[in-house]
Amino acid sequence: MSCERFRDLMMARLDGEITPSDQRDLDSHLAACQSCRREFSELGKITDLVQDLRLPKPSEDAMANYWPSVYARIERGLGWWLLIVGAGVWIGYGVFAFLTNPMMEALTKLLVALPIVGVLTLLVSAIRERCHVSRTERYGRVER
Ligand SMILES: [Zn+2]
Repeated sequence: MSCERFRDLMMARLDGEITPSDQRDLDSHLAACQSCRREFSELGKITDLVQDLRLPKPSEDAMANYWPSVYARIERGLGWWLLIVGAGVWIGYGVFAFLTNPMMEALTKLLVALPIVGVLTLLVSAIRERCHVSRTERYGRVER
């Protein structure tokens, strides 16, 4: 078998994608062929070097951990406000549509209004809690 074929096998071996039978062929060829043995060791060094370059440096690693946490905080805050504004708009629209509908009986209005008032109360309470939490977070961060 030609050395050319074994070069492909070497690449496959270094990529970890060699079949067991190819591995056996390669091993027996490397044992017999000095020039392929040298080439294989050179290829191995290059592969190691490339893998070293691919590994993130510690500083980049710290940055990679830092930014997602910042984004997560912004995202969570944004998500909260979108939820609150969205819910507020829908509730406002619902209340408006409901009050301007002359077909509604007073009792029906009351039955529909109760859960809406309940949701609004929860929402206001949640907003207040959110404001409190973010204020505490801010103070906590400054002190650290
Ligand atoms: Zn060879």
